[in-house]
Amino acid sequence: MKENLSVQFVYPSYKLPEEYLGAIDEVDHFNIMPASIAKNDADAIVVDGWEFNEKVTFHIPLIIRTGKVSLFQHADKLKEALKHSMRIDVVITDVDTFKEEDFKRYESILNDFADAVEQMYVEGLSPQLNILTDRMMLRKMNNCGAGDTTITLAPNGKFYICPAFYYEDKEDKVGDLIEGLDIKNKQLYKLEYAPICRHCDAWQCKRCVWLNRKTTLEVNTPSHEQCVVAHIERNASRKLLSSIRQHGTFLPEFGEICEIDYLDPFDNKRNWQNN
Ligand code: SF4
Repeated sequence: MKENLSVQFVYPSYKLPEEYLGAIDEVDHFNIMPASIAKNDADAIVVDGWEFNEKVTFHIPLIIRTGKVSLFQHADKLKEALKHSMRIDVVITDVDTFKEEDFKRYESILNDFADAVEQMYVEGLSPQLNILTDRMMLRKMNNCGAGDTTITLAPNGKFYICPAFYYEDKEDKVGDLIEGLDIKNKQLYKLEYAPICRHCDAWQCKRCVWLNRKTTLEVNTPSHEQCVVAHIERNASRKLLSSIRQHGTFLPEFGEICEIDYLDPFDNKRNWQNN
């Protein structure tokens, strides 16, 4: 609080003692809660998988964590849930396992969602689905920010780049409450120091630094899979934006999303390597 940071609490799936809840209430905060314990005090609800009623109306963002196969299997459920929710954020937990056939399937599902969402907009609804609609409403990169604009304080009193670093290896800390923050080479978490990402316009991409390190051993270098998944989303957004605009003025303050001929910005490097 001394650093004037806003605090997001990620809750466990069991109820916290009243004493903890009282302490949390003393600071400005945002509650991210599993569906199993969420009540009126949640600011975002998280479900691991697809065990929720897609016809229930959510007035706060619903975050769905899912593997790719499960996402493909539950595409219809997601489409139905979109009609009842103000916003759904899908977090694909195994992006690094995507293969050619998965890219094709993902593209086909997103194009199908785009048709459904177009119809919803025509009917006066305005659902938001991060993997489809975020890119339409951005003018610049809007990535995760772990290690740069956000930091995680774990239950052990230590700082981590993000919760994934904590869960993977508790020794992988970047400081603690007593000694303060200690991020080595902290410039590497900034977009300016990400040689591929800073030439990219898949602005909705999570640019997951944990996934980068897991797949390429560098926090500022993405894997091919992460880039292709983000570009499939970008291109589905492009299609959706142009389809909705056939029905009338829509988001006039945002420009067109241009057509590109690559899915991985690394393949476009000849056009940016001198910049
Ligand atoms: S698509 Fe690839 S290059 Fe673009 S922001 Fe995402 S990780 Fe970076």
